[in-house]
Amino acid sequence: MKDETNKFLVEKLFGGCWHENMPEMIAPDSHQICKKCGKAFAGSTVRNPNLYTWQGFGWLWEKLFETDLWEKFFEWYEEDGWDRVWSADDDFRIKPNELIDPATFATRVREFMEGRE
Ligand SMILES: [Zn+2]
Repeated sequence: MKDETNKFLVEKLFGGCWHENMPEMIAPDSHQICKKCGKAFAGSTVRNPNLYTWQGFGWLWEKLFETDLWEKFFEWYEEDGWDRVWSADDDFRIKPNELIDPATFATRVREFMEGRE
């Protein structure tokens, strides 16, 4: 679920490449090349954003803020996300505390994006 959410958000929300190794192309200078976009990475493997870290949380927050989806996300959250949180957990939680959490924020943004498809 974590990798799926990372991949989904990178591809759908930001139109980015979810990089994949091209094992047959490992260069002698220990670079790896993405088999989809051709981007080179130092080391033996490509690297993708991990939105489940605090760095990833900041990345997702800033990216969402740059789009016109920012306000729509919070409108959706007010209408749909809150009910879902309530019914899923049967437990009251303070809304800002929920969203200021890398895993939860990434999950909610994914749910929001899936609802727009
Ligand atoms: Zn790539």
